[in-house]
Amino acid sequence: MGHLDEPTFKTTLAACRACGGAAFEIVTYLDRQVSVMLGDANDDGRWTYDGEKLIDGVSRVTCTGCRAVAFESDDCPRCHAAGALPRAAIASRLSVPRRCPACSGNDVTVIGLAPAVVTTVAGTRPPPPVPRALFGDDGFQVMAIACDDCEWATVTDDCPLCGAPGPLRPRP
Ligand SMILES: [Zn+2]
Ligand SMILES: [Zn+2]
Ligand SMILES: [Zn+2]
Repeated sequence: MGHLDEPTFKTTLAACRACGGAAFEIVTYLDRQVSVMLGDANDDGRWTYDGEKLIDGVSRVTCTGCRAVAFESDDCPRCHAAGALPRAAIASRLSVPRRCPACSGNDVTVIGLAPAVVTTVAGTRPPPPVPRALFGDDGFQVMAIACDDCEWATVTDDCPLCGAPGPLRPRP
């Protein structure tokens, strides 16, 4: 579990401690799956996280009314390395080959962590998060690659976000 657990997250989002407002902007890292052909994304990809991972990856919660910061951490959201969040904002540490190294196939499936923003209003269903970086952009960090045509696959052993050495803590 990240620095925010679910009860704390719910309490934080219920009302702004400064102005009492109930709308918040959440900055987080979320799992995103992308189809890649010859090293280029076929599309923008799709979210594949569950709700608990949304909480797990949160680095900042801001009241949209008064901009008061309700939660902020610059530790890595994935491995908790102190102050390591800025190290995620670079080109992906794990690069995707143009062709599968085993079968030379053109198509691979990539799962990465994408920086995302979601705006919540207490008592309503949150809209889909908006990605701030897509595959190939700085900040989109590839976690796993799998060939669509054979059994070849690879994953990061180190933290995909900040590069800290593994093993990684389990995710919820
Ligand atoms: Zn406020
Ligand atoms: Zn990390
Ligand atoms: Zn292959």
